[in-house]
Amino acid sequence: MMQLFIPLNFLGFVYREIRGAFANIERMFTLLDKQPLIENSPNATTAPLTLGKVSFEQVCFSYDSRGILDDVSFTIEPGQKVAIVGDSGAGKSTIVKLLFRFYDVVSGAIRIDGQDIRQLSQDTLRQAIAIVPQDTVLFNDTLVENIRYGRPSATDAEIDAAINMAHLGEFIQSLPEGRDTRVGERGLKLSGGEKQRVAIARAILKRSPILVFDEATSSLDSHSEQAILTALKEVAKDHTSLVIAHRLSTVIDADQILVLSKGRVVEVGTHYDLLKKAGLYAKLWRIQQE
Ligand code: ADP
Ligand code: MG
Repeated sequence: MMQLFIPLNFLGFVYREIRGAFANIERMFTLLDKQPLIENSPNATTAPLTLGKVSFEQVCFSYDSRGILDDVSFTIEPGQKVAIVGDSGAGKSTIVKLLFRFYDVVSGAIRIDGQDIRQLSQDTLRQAIAIVPQDTVLFNDTLVENIRYGRPSATDAEIDAAINMAHLGEFIQSLPEGRDTRVGERGLKLSGGEKQRVAIARAILKRSPILVFDEATSSLDSHSEQAILTALKEVAKDHTSLVIAHRLSTVIDADQILVLSKGRVVEVGTHYDLLKKAGLYAKLWRIQQE
């Protein structure tokens, strides 16, 4: 039972109804893979963060004693879109986990709106960031409740707006029970692309200044991919966004692309800067074009 308690606490929210969600909570463990070690500092900042400026300052991190991130620095200005690309195992997801403070850095600092995240209350931090994960967890409940989960106080009109922005409207209309269709373990099984769009609708509803999107690796069909990209572009307009990209075609419009290799940022620039550099990014791009 201890294990059940910790991840819920650590996600910073408690689902309105735990009933029926156990199978999914188990899946959450596999996403989280380790218990967080974080604690609120005694005089933690509790005021909400509104700008969405993110900076990593010479961040080093290791799991046990194995070095994972080495001297990672970058800044995302409010409203910018930054992408992180690199081979599997390079440390991309670790950057997201550190930003969400699943773990603390070994050295260096991570700041949001200039404040070290270790000085923020967990609520403040979790409210500042909406994550669209690679593999979205849906609860055994209706579609609309799964979306409302982003902000339980949202009105129906706000939920409808989020559904439309996430390009889910047409799909929901095609279901006999519409937004009241049950999904998850005992309901309708959604495709990877549909689940990600539910997660995007959740994230829109949450209204956090920072949006993190971990692109699905599983081969989405091109129709789903296009729907997700369109949805994402609309959301990203009002947010600072950090995109972990597997397909480079999704980062062409990023303000900055970080190329990560073995835990180090080896190249930084726009798509065109990096192609000109003829380095690792250009090589990855060439491989993916084939
Ligand atoms: P990426 O997202 O770029 O594929 P990750 O950030 O997930 O890479 O992982 C970076 C490295 O850290 C990998 O070598 C991975 O095996 C290791 N790693 C990830 N999570 C853990 C963990 N909980 N404990 C130990 N090592 C881990
Ligand atoms: Mg990853």
